[in-house]
Amino acid sequence: EGMTVVELSKRTGKSISDLQDIMVNVGEKVCSEFDSLSIDIAELVAMEVGVNVKRLHSNEGSEILPRPPVVTVMGHVDHGKTSLLDALRQTSLAAKEAGGITQHLGAFVVSMQSGASITFLDTPGHAAFSAMRARGAAVTDIVVLVVAADDGVMPQTLEALAHAKAANVPIVVAINKCDKPGANPERVKVQLASEGLALEEMGGDIQAVEVSATKKTGLDILEEALLLQAEMMELKARVDGPAQAYVVEARLDKGRGPLATAIVKAGTLICGRYVVVGAEWGRIRAIRDTIGKLTEKAKPAMPVEIEGLKGLPMAGDDIVVVESEERARMLSAGRKKKLDKDRLLKIGEERMELASPSEEESERVELPIIVKADVQGTVQAVTDSLRSLNSSQVFVSVVHVGVGSISQSDLDLAQACGACIVGFNIRSPPSAVIQAADRAKIKIILQRVIYHLLKDIGELIVEKAPGTS
Ligand code: GDP
Repeated sequence: EGMTVVELSKRTGKSISDLQDIMVNVGEKVCSEFDSLSIDIAELVAMEVGVNVKRLHSNEGSEILPRPPVVTVMGHVDHGKTSLLDALRQTSLAAKEAGGITQHLGAFVVSMQSGASITFLDTPGHAAFSAMRARGAAVTDIVVLVVAADDGVMPQTLEALAHAKAANVPIVVAINKCDKPGANPERVKVQLASEGLALEEMGGDIQAVEVSATKKTGLDILEEALLLQAEMMELKARVDGPAQAYVVEARLDKGRGPLATAIVKAGTLICGRYVVVGAEWGRIRAIRDTIGKLTEKAKPAMPVEIEGLKGLPMAGDDIVVVESEERARMLSAGRKKKLDKDRLLKIGEERMELASPSEEESERVELPIIVKADVQGTVQAVTDSLRSLNSSQVFVSVVHVGVGSISQSDLDLAQACGACIVGFNIRSPPSAVIQAADRAKIKIILQRVIYHLLKDIGELIVEKAPGTS
């Protein structure tokens, strides 16, 4: 039993030193590459480099079956992403059964009469998409690019296009608001073609569908187009065996503790199993589908809410199933240690940069910010887009993030480090908090649109910039 580090390196395709680093992180002593590892440790290390543990034994007998596509909606602000998602959600049989009442869980499934289904991620926008991708979670199979027929291609349309291209994810165009008097779908097509999109009717392979989210027209055609695209991609997944999954959203529930919406990539997620989720761990106590019904198992592309984690994971975190509580703890501790190490390194680097300001940087505007948002996925998306403002002239430092409303302790922290507070997609704080913020001269920015938020922050930076009183 067991195998040497050399053997493990061959089977996983990772270098010996990479494997040894991981062994340190999971709390194992580094041994020489010719020493034998127990099969337990070999599995743990393999899991950490993303290799299906089964492969260490044998991969035979696991069935590979077609799976539904996972779709993200992107496009310019106000072009109707949210409206389109709402309309699509209502076309689902499940939504009809539930009387149209569905919770916001970060994802939903449209199941069609034919038996086919499509999974939609329902945090629209490219910020969430790229935040997930930055964490290595390639969850999205297809991007729906929403373009308003009366407005045409706009800056964020092009940004979304660039994100999809960079991720190598195919696009289906939804030309929305076709009900409007000023709608001009043909113009949108010409604009897209001039951006290099090879639309089907011009001999390319990108489908464009005319829809109206408010009048609910063209939705069935859009769904057909997505299924056709999925068919061409021949999406498949292993159905048996331990699940590999990703978190698309996480939040804290007062009664039920940390909850994560997960989408299974491969295998089957089963209630009662021990899992490691990012750097957190837990034992799955309950699995619920998107209409809140308890279920025992989740299959590929099926979004589910899992309960039983010890801490709050982040959108994009991977979920791996492990044998025992002991292993779950060990792996989680190893990952936490690595996160801490990376964080310290990063802080060190930022300090270095600050300690030796170059000519330009001595003029750099510093802006400490606290971010509060409705769900973990949004917290990350907002943080990432704020950090994207950093340059040699501007240093946005996100000093604290959290899920939920703005509290007195946020104010205390803001006062201590001279930060402003961003509340994204959350309700206005209680008036006592607002008054306290006023007294302490702490700026609170409440927004629901990233683009508007970035504009506000831009204005703050200009206010603070040297030379512009
Ligand atoms: P998002 O910012 O892309 O999520 O856009 P929203 O879904 O919030 O929509 C922006 C505005 O456009 C809202 O006032 C919607 O009611 C409106 N809208 C969205 N879809 C349609 C549509 O198909 N037709 C018309 N006439 N208005 C729409």
